[in-house]
Amino acid sequence: MNQTDVLVIGAGVSGLSCALYTSKAGLNTVVLEHGESQLKSVKMVYNIPGIQEGISGAQWLESARTQVFNAGGSIHTGKVESLALTDQPYTVVTTDGRMWSAQYLVIAVNLGYPLLESLGFEVAINEHVPSKKIRKVLEVGYDGKSHQPGVFFAGLLTDVPSQTIIAAGQGAFVGVQIASDFLKRPFMWHD
Ligand SMILES: Cc1cc2nc3c(=O)[nH]c(=O)nc-3n(C[C@H](O)[C@H](O)[C@H](O)COP(=O)(O)OP(=O)(O)OC[C@H]3O[C@@H](n4cnc5c(N)ncnc54)[C@H](O)[C@@H]3O)c2cc1C
Repeated sequence: MNQTDVLVIGAGVSGLSCALYTSKAGLNTVVLEHGESQLKSVKMVYNIPGIQEGISGAQWLESARTQVFNAGGSIHTGKVESLALTDQPYTVVTTDGRMWSAQYLVIAVNLGYPLLESLGFEVAINEHVPSKKIRKVLEVGYDGKSHQPGVFFAGLLTDVPSQTIIAAGQGAFVGVQIASDFLKRPFMWHD
């Protein structure tokens, strides 16, 4: 059994943003990745404030991954098949049989929402996204908190509009909340 403070399921926009903040705060952070972020195939994104020249989706993701590594986090390949949402720490099993135990769980799977339905979370159409193909988790707001202690959601599953900057910001907010809870003081990243 591998142990960590924070386990993030999904190495997309919100999952990487969250992991960057928890890693930077000194929490052992593992990201499990399977499949591709929706952003991966986007040629250029011009709507991120501060990046006037634009950035490709692949570049954004690569850069965020490097930031996670540099902050001390790690990213492992692994499709999550089952979770035991009984008591903290939570146990996560990947399809290749690896097991993880984590105090905090961040579910940032976006289109991987069938996993949530199998866990008993109810999902509905995220009306902020015009395609109607995106789901939100019922009774979860921008803070990503679920009824389960230490279990958070991140990204479009939290009913936010489908924009990279918003998914990244929401993921960072989840990371700050987890870091603050763990450290028992408000966490703020100062460079
Ligand atoms: C065609 C298209 C064009 C877009 N263009 C723009 C644009 O120009 N500007 C802009 O701001 N936004 C754009 N977006 C939106 C942007 O991609 C999303 O807002 C953002 O990716 C959402 O982040 P997220 O973290 O919620 O999900 P994602 O980034 O999709 O990340 C979810 C991650 O979870 C993984 N996952 C799923 N199930 C599992 C599992 N069981 N185990 C482990 N991992 C799992 C997925 O493989 C993925 O890596 C575009 C989206 C699309 C589809």
